[in-house]
Amino acid sequence: MLAYMSSMVARKPTRVISVGGIKIGGDNPIVIQSMTNTDTRDVKATVAQIKALTKAGCELARVAVPCIESAKAIFDIKKQITIPLEADIHFDYRLAIESIKYGADKIRINPATLGGLDKIKKVVEAAKEHKIPIRVGINSGAVEKDIFKKYGGITAEALLESAMRSVKTLENMDFYDICISIKSSNVPLTIKTNMLLSEQTDYPLHIGITETGTIKSGSIKSAMGLGTILYHGIGDTFRVSLTGDPVEEIYYCKQILNALGIRRSGVEIISCPTCARTKVDLISIANEVERQCEDIIQPIQVAVMGCAVNGPGEAQQADIGIASGDGHGVIFKHGKVLKKVSEAKMVTELMKEINAMVSA
Ligand code: SF4
Repeated sequence: MLAYMSSMVARKPTRVISVGGIKIGGDNPIVIQSMTNTDTRDVKATVAQIKALTKAGCELARVAVPCIESAKAIFDIKKQITIPLEADIHFDYRLAIESIKYGADKIRINPATLGGLDKIKKVVEAAKEHKIPIRVGINSGAVEKDIFKKYGGITAEALLESAMRSVKTLENMDFYDICISIKSSNVPLTIKTNMLLSEQTDYPLHIGITETGTIKSGSIKSAMGLGTILYHGIGDTFRVSLTGDPVEEIYYCKQILNALGIRRSGVEIISCPTCARTKVDLISIANEVERQCEDIIQPIQVAVMGCAVNGPGEAQQADIGIASGDGHGVIFKHGKVLKKVSEAKMVTELMKEINAMVSA
């Protein structure tokens, strides 16, 4: 469950596209997405992963389609999932056409790598016939040679020109059901490129930092890059790409939106760093509360504070919280004191109250 907050972030107006049962762009909520890392031909494993992603809060799943069997698998995968499916295609236009034929709700291509206008046209015709959008997905590793030469390398302007050239190609084929993404592993470059892109177009934008690394480093890079772009009101759908379980990506997507005050979902823990004033084992308590809250999808702020200096104030501003004292804690709910509990019972009693709130 996601709640929409009044936020300081003003979204840049974009057109709206429909992807399966959801809308991307305009005033619609920023869509959280991820990509499976199973073999797409393994329908059972792919469906299981998409279901896990959906449970975590993913709203659009992308699958890689490196072969015809993967395109065919889309048909069976689609029957067993509840969120829209995007097919990710590189180089072979026939895989794009087959993916569309077998039920993809959206395809992601880089038109410049499909092998010529006649092939792009065939893909566009298939997308038109099935009324599905195309994401023009540009990565910094696949910029056309002439553009690379013109700018002397990969720059924001080069990436922008590459994307807009592909968009123009589709528009020349009378196709406008478009979403655009430009990704790089370079955070400042991706930020600058998306800012420029947003000035040039009102197509909805998918944003992401690519090849960010493992969960530890990748989540920081993503938060810096995507957080900055989103803070400027840019981005209609996004993915946090991590070398790890894709389900983890959803957690970080939600935390980025929570931190910016754009959308609240799941439990947001507000806890202090602890200091000499802390008289309980707050680090263990906060981590245990976070662990026990992992499966909660309702948007709740939970404060776990170390002392009477900032503790009661923060705890009272959160939906629920605990402010610690010397060997005890005071549980607050919506600003009101509920009860005083011993350190040994802080987690149990706080979780009892949190679970009562989410099941109410
Ligand atoms: Fe220290 Fe209290 Fe601040 Fe926690 S809330 S860091 S215990 S002063």
